[in-house]
Amino acid sequence: MSPTTLVASPARAAWARVSGLRFGSLRTRIALLYAALFAAVLGLVVSLAAGALERFAEAGAARDLGANARVFDEILAGRARQMGDQAGVLAHDFGFREAVATGDAPTIASALESLENRVRSDMAFVLTLEGEVLAADASGVPAPETLWTRLDEGGTRGIIASDKGLALAAASPIEAPDLIGWLVIAQPLDRAELDRLVELAPIALDAQVVEAGAQAPWLKDAAADAVFEREAAGERSLYHVSDLAVLQDGIAPRLVLRHGLDESLAAYSSLKGWLIALAAAGIALVLGLSWKVARTVTEPLQQLDTATRLIGEGREVTLPVETDDEIGRLAESFNKMVAAIEEREREIIHVGLHDGLTGLPNRKLFTEQLANTLARRRAGERVMVAYVDLDDFKMVNDTLGHPAGDALLRMVADHLKEDHPDALVARLGGDEFAILIDGIDDKASLGNIADGLQRSFDRPLSVNGQAATCGASIGIAMAPLDGEDGITLMKNADLALYRAKHEGKAGYHFFEPALDEAARQRRQLELDLRAAIKDGGFELHFQPLYSLAEKRLTGFEALIRWNHPTRGRVNPMEFIALAEETGLIIPIGEWVLREACHQASMWPDDVSVAVNVSPKQFAASGIASTVLSALSASGLPPHRLELEITESIFIADVDTTLATLHSLRNLGVKIALDDFGTGYSSLSYLRSFPFDKVKIDRSFVEDLGTSTNGHAVIRAITTLANALGMETLAEGVGDVAQFEVLEREGCQNIQGYLFSRPVAANAVAGLLRDGAGYQRELRG
Ligand code: C2E
Ligand code: MG
Ligand code: MG
Repeated sequence: MSPTTLVASPARAAWARVSGLRFGSLRTRIALLYAALFAAVLGLVVSLAAGALERFAEAGAARDLGANARVFDEILAGRARQMGDQAGVLAHDFGFREAVATGDAPTIASALESLENRVRSDMAFVLTLEGEVLAADASGVPAPETLWTRLDEGGTRGIIASDKGLALAAASPIEAPDLIGWLVIAQPLDRAELDRLVELAPIALDAQVVEAGAQAPWLKDAAADAVFEREAAGERSLYHVSDLAVLQDGIAPRLVLRHGLDESLAAYSSLKGWLIALAAAGIALVLGLSWKVARTVTEPLQQLDTATRLIGEGREVTLPVETDDEIGRLAESFNKMVAAIEEREREIIHVGLHDGLTGLPNRKLFTEQLANTLARRRAGERVMVAYVDLDDFKMVNDTLGHPAGDALLRMVADHLKEDHPDALVARLGGDEFAILIDGIDDKASLGNIADGLQRSFDRPLSVNGQAATCGASIGIAMAPLDGEDGITLMKNADLALYRAKHEGKAGYHFFEPALDEAARQRRQLELDLRAAIKDGGFELHFQPLYSLAEKRLTGFEALIRWNHPTRGRVNPMEFIALAEETGLIIPIGEWVLREACHQASMWPDDVSVAVNVSPKQFAASGIASTVLSALSASGLPPHRLELEITESIFIADVDTTLATLHSLRNLGVKIALDDFGTGYSSLSYLRSFPFDKVKIDRSFVEDLGTSTNGHAVIRAITTLANALGMETLAEGVGDVAQFEVLEREGCQNIQGYLFSRPVAANAVAGLLRDGAGYQRELRG
């Protein structure tokens, strides 16, 4: 930055203050705009008025001058007439006529002298027809020949030029009785005379009689009897010129009247000054008024601006509605808008904090409320957080449809709210609820509270008009024992729920520290599983399947083993569930399929391989293409591959599952129903798909030695399966007694430790070779 910009000059600072503060505001701009508009209009009016005034003054002056000129002419004519009358009286006097006729010079001179005195003339003379001039004093009398023509033509009044200057003259003929001459009388038209005349005029005038020879060019060209304006030496003047009648040849005098314009305009200039002063006062008034008026517009705007800013800062604001004009209505609309925004905000907050389906608080609100409750908790008081997960809710959704599932969730929510009015019930998502109960004292029985929660789920429900039940698993964590903050409590309640689920349905479990350890181990196991997938830490073992009808080993079931780097060999029971939970079963299952097909491709043609497929693999799309690719990679004919599925795959969308099963069957692959009898409605599943084989669960086989009921169950299953055209296989055959019952009750295939435990791939060949040995062992 340059130093000049750091040190602002005082002038610049002042300007910044003025422009920033003053002209920046709308109010100032409105006031100035109005004042400027008013000033412009007023300026125009004033200048028009001033112009009009000036023209009016000029016209008045011109008119006055014209009138004065006429008066002037009139006065001159009057004077001449008067002189003419006096001359006429003498010219008609008998004695005078006789004196002229006889040439009596002394009489004439005395008569003329007395005439001169009467009319204040300084020149009176007689001009005879002979051209003789008779006078008391003939000096200065113009040459007779210059007067002759005019007098002869009958001229009686006019200007003559003597050597004393111009003079106003009047003539009268002398007849005795015929014309014998003229009596002429003259009065000087000098400065003094003109000034006397001028004094008679009502306006200030300057009069001058100018002879033709002495006239300036502009005067010579000027039209007679008209008023015109002329500027000379910075002064404007009005002129009037008139041609004066003459009694003498060779002269052309003009009367020039001048009137100073500036003088007459001066009277109006003070009026103009007043006008301008009035205009300035008007502008100042308008500026003040518009400043005030602008305030009525800008002040509400300013309030609006402030209110908007405050609302932006999250404050509550209402504008006062003081008038019912546009501004009042604006304030009203603004208030309405603010109210609408606040309402919408409340709605948004409500939507953001509540579950749309049940109207219960959601996880966010629950977490907040829990934090508040924990902060308020008093010593000796306990707070319970229960996590609830509905049992088999997915089945309700899948079998009865989503609307039924939604209705069930709403009913459960209602029951929970009714049964625990003092508790905070929230829906965390899906079929998971959370319940917060606070203020539990030391002596209260937690078991009773938990039982109370459980009972809410025993209440009968009605879905699609049918009575139904919906159990729930509950995990409970208590503050302060299981955690003093919300996050820990919620995590621990979740762990307890996980345990409750795994312990069997419709039960509750309190958090205990061991659960934390179990969870930690699960997380570790998951990490180890991922590493195993990457590093190839799995191996397949194979357990023979023996056909009683063919009396030979017809296939092997592939069973996965995990060679854990520290724990050694881990059985599937321990990690398959976790792999399913985490989705890792997909890559693992794919590897099993490829490896099993690959191994089986090296076995004799009449020996097949059975591969277990998890429901998760079914749910994920692409199982058929995985199977196809495993088959083609290994070259194993499809009919030598058997996929073992469990009834639990039907928990997912039944239609899709059946479609997938059919597409697999269309590949030529065999489908076996594993662990038959452990599911809910085993028999109904048998009807839903033409399985190639039904594998009777080990639990049924175990009973055979001890109870006789078991025989009937096996018989029922084999009979039904045969009727449906399905083969049967008994799992977990451990001794000869079981074997014999199974054989008797029509079971066609056997699998179990009696024949062989699962063996490593390289031991398969040995088992195939010694296949006959089993028979020996059994029969022997
Ligand atoms: P399963 O499909 O029912 O497999 C039979 C299980 O019974 C095997 O246990 C086998 O070792 C055991 N068994 C066989 N004969 C007897 C006997 O006479 N007595 C007793 N007590 N047990 C016997 P394993 O290998 O531990 O596998 C357990 C389960 O793990 C399997 O049950 C299957 O559901 C699952 N599993 C194994 N391998 C895979 C696999 O590759 N993929 C999937 N998805 N699941 C697998
Ligand atoms: Mg199996
Ligand atoms: Mg099984």
